[in-house]
Amino acid sequence: MTSNPSVTGAPVGVRPAVRAVPAYPFTPIQVPIKLDQNENPYDFPAELKAKAAERMLAQPWNRYPDLHADTLAARIAKYEDWDADGVVVTPGSNVLIKLLTELAGIEQTVLTVDPTFSVYTLEAKMLGARLVQVPLNEDFSMPVDRLKIELQRQRPGVLYITQPHAPTGHVDDLAAVRELLEAAGEWVVVLDEAYYQYSGTDCRDLVRQYPNALSLRTFSKAWGLAGLRAGYALAGADLATQLQKLVPAFNVSILIQSALEVALENPGYVQERVAEAVAERGRVLAALEDHPTCQAMPSRANFFLLRTPDAEVAYRHLIDHGIVTRRQDRLTGLEGCLRVGIGTPAENDALIEAVRALK
Ligand code: PMP
Repeated sequence: MTSNPSVTGAPVGVRPAVRAVPAYPFTPIQVPIKLDQNENPYDFPAELKAKAAERMLAQPWNRYPDLHADTLAARIAKYEDWDADGVVVTPGSNVLIKLLTELAGIEQTVLTVDPTFSVYTLEAKMLGARLVQVPLNEDFSMPVDRLKIELQRQRPGVLYITQPHAPTGHVDDLAAVRELLEAAGEWVVVLDEAYYQYSGTDCRDLVRQYPNALSLRTFSKAWGLAGLRAGYALAGADLATQLQKLVPAFNVSILIQSALEVALENPGYVQERVAEAVAERGRVLAALEDHPTCQAMPSRANFFLLRTPDAEVAYRHLIDHGIVTRRQDRLTGLEGCLRVGIGTPAENDALIEAVRALK
């Protein structure tokens, strides 16, 4: 018997573009109050979980699911008032970002703003696309004129816009989004609407009007199903058909499909939770308004940016108070900033107290 030989040396087949990027930067921190991933602080309602489990048990687990989750896509289409042939479902919208970059980024240019959601840039770099980022305006609004210039100059395969923006929570007028869709011509524009339920606005009607536009949505935030992993795209039939080709066959498990069917049949809980998060967001921002050294930035998502004199000190201080947030100084270059999720009212009380105690 030989023991496992230890493997040394780096395989040369790995593409340099993959080797050059760091792994997705995330370290789980075990503290009581988790405000670092913009999750819903509430679990999927227990009675719906039980129904979902029942439905999972009624499925044959030895058989593959629908090739492209067609039944589920049809139900999402009904919920969204969309054509079923314009819906693409995957295990998480992160997967769709990878696939969209494959679809329209490889050997072309990926255009986005800076700071932006890190997955767009990570995927662009790993897939060897050319990446161009335009700085956001000072007030976090979209640099529409600069983006229009870059759309002309670069002819990017895909432009990523996040509405509400992550990590700032800023929402731009739909008129600004429309201007970009016009300027992009036939090039793909992804409108990532992971947090739209918290913003009071959405881009669905615009996507209907532009065959190059696509809305990216997720069950991870307002629906409180981040652990399940499910996201979808709404697009015109041609864009959806081309994107669907890139989704691996049988990608959405029967477990995800069963749970989502139950969620879509009982969507009432979402609205209640969103209303609470929006009210809590207002309460937290108002409570921190007169802080002597920290600035809680206005937001229309389920998180906000907290600008502090020193991100490291503030992050450690909050951890000491049992609260984990996400550092933005390292991640996106927003000096002194932490991204803070909206939690339950009791968690938000603890946050307010801890931030008030920060010098
Ligand atoms: N887009 C944005 C802007 C996000 O913040 C996130 C989650 N962090 C995602 C997409 C991905 O969501 P998921 O993969 O959970 O659907």
